[in-house]
Amino acid sequence: MICTDIHTHRPEAYPLERTVRSLSLSEVRGMPLKPDIGLASVGIHPWKVGSYYENDIEQLKVWIGRDWVRLVGECGLDKYASASYKLQLYFFRKQIELAEQFCKPMIIHCVGYYNELFALRKEMKPAQKWILHGFRGKPQLAEQALKAGCDLSFGELFNKDTIRITPVEHLFVETDESKLSIDDIYQMIAEIKDCKAEELNAGEKLLNC
Ligand SMILES: [Zn+2]
Repeated sequence: MICTDIHTHRPEAYPLERTVRSLSLSEVRGMPLKPDIGLASVGIHPWKVGSYYENDIEQLKVWIGRDWVRLVGECGLDKYASASYKLQLYFFRKQIELAEQFCKPMIIHCVGYYNELFALRKEMKPAQKWILHGFRGKPQLAEQALKAGCDLSFGELFNKDTIRITPVEHLFVETDESKLSIDDIYQMIAEIKDCKAEELNAGEKLLNC
């Protein structure tokens, strides 16, 4: 079984063609045009927005335009980040616009600002997927997210009942910073869904691999 990992920070994650490495703008700066790292997402995380400037968005745009950059993010909104909500929202909106412009799905970090996030999706009506990564919410929050048109990505820690109610076509799997392999996480989720791991293939479709 070869499972697709849509979000990881682990340098040793594999295989390259099915693993989306999450990189910050500062991590990709100085990389060659086509680095030997497989697929990636590039974005400005809400924890880091304070160290970027408005004109960094122009630079981000150049990276997002590259074909090995498959997702925009991780980016989003976090109640516990040091930057103000206003500043976080500014950078998040800019990244939503880039995702739309380049037709690339988003990998989103959201803590404590779900209502704001859902309202934003309603307002901006994006065509691209918004995948809420590392989702640990209860079924009620998952239902709201799905109703708002978001997708959910699960890692090592999750709510079992939430997995049960998430349709497989909206369910993604990731390692993020976990020490478990992506195959192990697929296996855990497949057992709860009472299906085979290969039936959880939303990530594969997303990346067309
Ligand atoms: Zn992450």
